[in-house]
Amino acid sequence: MSLFPTERKCSVCKKAFLGWEEWRYRRDDKWFCSWGCLRKHDKKARANRANARRLDRMERSEVVELLRKGTSPQRIADQVGVSVQAIMYYKQKAGA
Ligand SMILES: [Zn+2]
Repeated sequence: MSLFPTERKCSVCKKAFLGWEEWRYRRDDKWFCSWGCLRKHDKKARANRANARRLDRMERSEVVELLRKGTSPQRIADQVGVSVQAIMYYKQKAGA
């Protein structure tokens, strides 16, 4: 453990700053230059979790049905608010 400040890179704005062990604006291994950037990170993490929950709620069969109807994975992804990769995963699983 170093008591000396180390140059860190903000995970949000990419700005370099000096941080040390007791730095308050941290989340696990991510460092933030300011309270504002930490809040931005938290807000985004919350949105990502909400998106994952939304896909959980949306029945897999519903996604598969849209795929069978010929709706593009990109369009379903936009509609559901998740990545195209997640839709492709469902597509592959269903053999659609
Ligand atoms: Zn920042």
